[in-house]
Amino acid sequence: LKKKPQIESAGETLSGVKSVIAIASGKGGVGKSTVAANLAVALAAQGVKTGLLDADIYGPSLPTLFGISAKPTMRDGKIVPHEAFGVKAMSIGWLVDQEKAVAWRGPMVMGAVRQLMSDVDWGELDVLLIDTPPGTGDTHLSLIQSKRLSGAVIVSTPQEMALADMRRGVSLFRQAKAPIIGIIENMAWLEMPDGSRQYIFGEGGARKAAAKLDAPFLGSIPLYPELRQASDEGMPLAAREHPASDSFNEIAHTLFE
Ligand code: ADP
Repeated sequence: LKKKPQIESAGETLSGVKSVIAIASGKGGVGKSTVAANLAVALAAQGVKTGLLDADIYGPSLPTLFGISAKPTMRDGKIVPHEAFGVKAMSIGWLVDQEKAVAWRGPMVMGAVRQLMSDVDWGELDVLLIDTPPGTGDTHLSLIQSKRLSGAVIVSTPQEMALADMRRGVSLFRQAKAPIIGIIENMAWLEMPDGSRQYIFGEGGARKAAAKLDAPFLGSIPLYPELRQASDEGMPLAAREHPASDSFNEIAHTLFE
């Protein structure tokens, strides 16, 4: 195992953190947070020192996905991330009052994102995954401006409507010279009891879109009722034996070989 990302850091790095990857999506509800959390668990299981920062200020899901509600503690003026499923985890949901945060404007959002990166004691990490809000907004701009991003991984369903939004996201990152590390297709199909596949959102759309955009295609994750259930129960499926874990493991291998 080569504990080195395929992609080098674009600029100034967080001390001790070798690469920072934004997990983005054009649309909400495509499974970006689910993919980020399970990919983080799969990477950690492969021996990659992994951090996960849930910076989705308007809808943090990591507290639910990892089943943790406790606020993190402080040590020497820094926030100590939670450690769960082998991953160092931090969510904006543990720090701010969500009722108030929904009214935050650009500068506050950007300040919070910067602080979450720099005021957390990440220690030594091979990779820090950052789960960003859907679309392209202040959080993404803040990450791009920080010059700490190694690149972005984009999650989309195969549906044309989701792909159109994904293309816009790709172009924002590219304009900002943040490389697209790759595209992950989620909810790719439903596995039927007889072994056949039901392509609920269309077949292979994200793979084709990736080829057209000249961006690497990182893999597909099917729809599994167990994946939704495990997420609600706060126990990521990637931490257990399940075909979904195989999909996440393959993508984790592609990212860090
Ligand atoms: P986003 O972060 O893009 O808004 P979420 O990760 O919150 O999306 O996922 C949206 C919903 O879809 C959640 O209920 C989640 O459990 C479910 N989900 C995501 N991916 C899958 C999948 N591959 N199979 C089944 N359910 C999924």
